Amino acid sequence: MSDPLLAIRDLHVTYATGEGALPAVRGVDLTVARGQIVGVAGESGCGKSTLASTVLRLQPTNATVTGEVLFDGRDVLTMRWGDLRAVRWSGASIVFQGALHSLNPVHRIGAQIAEPILVHTEGLGDERIRSRVGELLDQVGLDPARARAYPHQLSGGQKQRVMIAMALACDPELVVADEPTTALDVMVQAQVLNVLSDLVREREVGMMMISHDLSVLADLCDRITVMYAGRVVEEGPAKQIFSEPLHPYSGALSAAFPRVGDPAARFAPAGLPGDPPDARNLPGGCSFAPRCPRAAEVCLPAEPELMAYDDRAAACVRIGDPVEEPQEAAS
Ligand code: ADP
Ligand code: MG
Repeated sequence: MSDPLLAIRDLHVTYATGEGALPAVRGVDLTVARGQIVGVAGESGCGKSTLASTVLRLQPTNATVTGEVLFDGRDVLTMRWGDLRAVRWSGASIVFQGALHSLNPVHRIGAQIAEPILVHTEGLGDERIRSRVGELLDQVGLDPARARAYPHQLSGGQKQRVMIAMALACDPELVVADEPTTALDVMVQAQVLNVLSDLVREREVGMMMISHDLSVLADLCDRITVMYAGRVVEEGPAKQIFSEPLHPYSGALSAAFPRVGDPAARFAPAGLPGDPPDARNLPGGCSFAPRCPRAAEVCLPAEPELMAYDDRAAACVRIGDPVEEPQEAAS
């Protein structure tokens, strides 16, 4: 069998901070096959962006990384500079969280999309580059004539499409999209995500799509990895994770973010009080236990291992235990 496009193995990322070591990613495994869209879900602070940054070895200098990030079977974390550059140029590209604000306000968007093509492809004439830019704009659903626009002349959704066009400019094999639409309103968000996932499917590239919103991922992804406090707490087919979550945290996430277009769900309670723990000061045992409606004595001794359940995996010692419904006092 050929190597998967991306295989992250036992990845640990720890940040050195003024207040001590901060373990942001703790033993994460994740695989993306060609033509597959893999979602990474979890609240803010759970380590999603940290995980994304290691795919192209773009983690900050205060980070210590161990484990493997295999791109096409070769470890990005240890490969030589020349090879890493090749991966960064045409192997994988990242749409960063907040990238919307990274367009240069004084350059036309056509020139900005052309830039990676110019840098990474030798000897393409002006005409070829212009037509390639037009083609990319067309693919993300923008009129090629918009190449002459400046960023301020575009809406948020259009700017996000430009970011996607830039990410696709060098024909990457893998696209990592870190909350690509979080700044957009719900309708525009859905449009942009559809553009992105259609492109991924058409081109048979692989994609890692990060979002705090499980409902968005459920619609677009093949599989989803749910992270909590730097660990994988559940992994499996996207629809199942959303509609029949095994881990109480996945359950809370799927209840917290109602489905787009479901009027009844709009009024559902957010349902998950509190915040993820401070990574520098994790509770002993299951790190979700302090917020978990199902927490019991068995959750406290150790952090649960990820266990396989058919085609999925979850890290919760309470799976299979009967769920006690709140009982009315017997009279
Ligand atoms: P997410 O993308 O899921 O919101 P992040 O990966 O951004 O999570 O952050 C995970 C944890 O790492 C958080 O506690 C965050 O404060 C911390 N963190 C992120 N970047 C740095 C950094 N450069 N230095 C120190 N801590 C960081
Ligand atoms: Mg993030």
